[in-house]
Amino acid sequence: MNILVTGGCGFIGSALVRYLLRTTSHAVLNVDKLTYASTPEAIVGADQNPRYRFERADICDASAMQTIFREFQPQVVMHLAAESHVDRSIDGPLEFLNTNIMGSAVLLEVARSYWQSLDAERQSAFRFQHISTDEVFGSLGAEGRFSETSPYQPNSPYSASKAASDHLVRAWHHTYGLPVIVTNCSNNYGPWQFPEKLIPLIILRALNGEPLPVYGDGLQIRDWLYVEDHAEALALVMQQGEIGETYNIGGNSEKTNIDIVQRICELLQERLPAEAPADGYASLITHVTDRPGHDRRYAIDAGKIEKELGWTPRHDLDSGLAETVDWYLQHRDWAMATRGRGAGERLGLTAASPQQGQTA
Ligand code: NAD
Repeated sequence: MNILVTGGCGFIGSALVRYLLRTTSHAVLNVDKLTYASTPEAIVGADQNPRYRFERADICDASAMQTIFREFQPQVVMHLAAESHVDRSIDGPLEFLNTNIMGSAVLLEVARSYWQSLDAERQSAFRFQHISTDEVFGSLGAEGRFSETSPYQPNSPYSASKAASDHLVRAWHHTYGLPVIVTNCSNNYGPWQFPEKLIPLIILRALNGEPLPVYGDGLQIRDWLYVEDHAEALALVMQQGEIGETYNIGGNSEKTNIDIVQRICELLQERLPAEAPADGYASLITHVTDRPGHDRRYAIDAGKIEKELGWTPRHDLDSGLAETVDWYLQHRDWAMATRGRGAGERLGLTAASPQQGQTA
């Protein structure tokens, strides 16, 4: 098959491209605009692979997308290109609306007209897989987990833009019959994640002996999914998922942010005691003003993908976090160099209104 991946130079997209090239015989075209968050070198060895091609393009550019579809003739589109950092969406929401909503709409329209031009057999083999987030469901209290039928209640400009794109994908299926599948996953972590997200940011700052910012009380809970487990799940859904369906993908690993930060400090203390501050890495932990509108808890019920497609995550948080810390220690130069692209800094501190705050 010819698989078109958008955002394949990003954190999850690159893991997916690596997985597809390693475990399948499909051809992969990676379409990416190469924003600040992209890491082309994450697709290790892809340049030498005759089944891999890269095209630098913006998903908002309809004519570029039309050319790409016409020339590559994809059987599958796996759509990951997005602006993905919640804090940046607080500082500059319009770029998120542009890429995540308009870019997805452009891609859907180009895919629709391409799909309608195919013969019946190729039409029925085609699928458009949209990669989304559990953040579209809003925030949970102490109990319960998100299922595929949870109501949408996005709280940040980022999650609202992803929710909008999910709705567009659903509408293009319902109205035009475009064969779509949606996946909503929890927080990913692992190799090549840009150090603006919690786990790599904490590792990077700890290695520099800088304060480790924990938003508010640090008791926000996330479900952590190892990125390579996610890539495997996405490929499985692509091959065996049912058209028109949604699948939640989670890591079965709920943890508070403060526990994550403390565990990273312990892992670094074991591995690099000589570089630790006198009172240990954990002495760098600093509670800072919370993110405006910060969701309190996300948790995924991944029972559907387990029951219907037989997928469960291979990594628990202990093994995944240890592998991740080891990876960043081995790729310290890369992590440090991301500083020049804005990694490691506090963003998204727009003053909150009195109504804003935690949506417990
Ligand atoms: P990322 O920010 O690491 O990578 C995004 C990639 O998309 C980058 O390579 C960037 O250059 C590219 N891109 C951005 N705008 C583009 C445009 N207009 N045209 C073409 N390419 C463009 O993101 P990620 O963490 O890999 O996330 C990938 C997808 O998964 C996103 O859709 C995101 O919403 C979703 N998701 C991510 C997480 C997570 O924990 N990281 C969780 C749930 C869902």
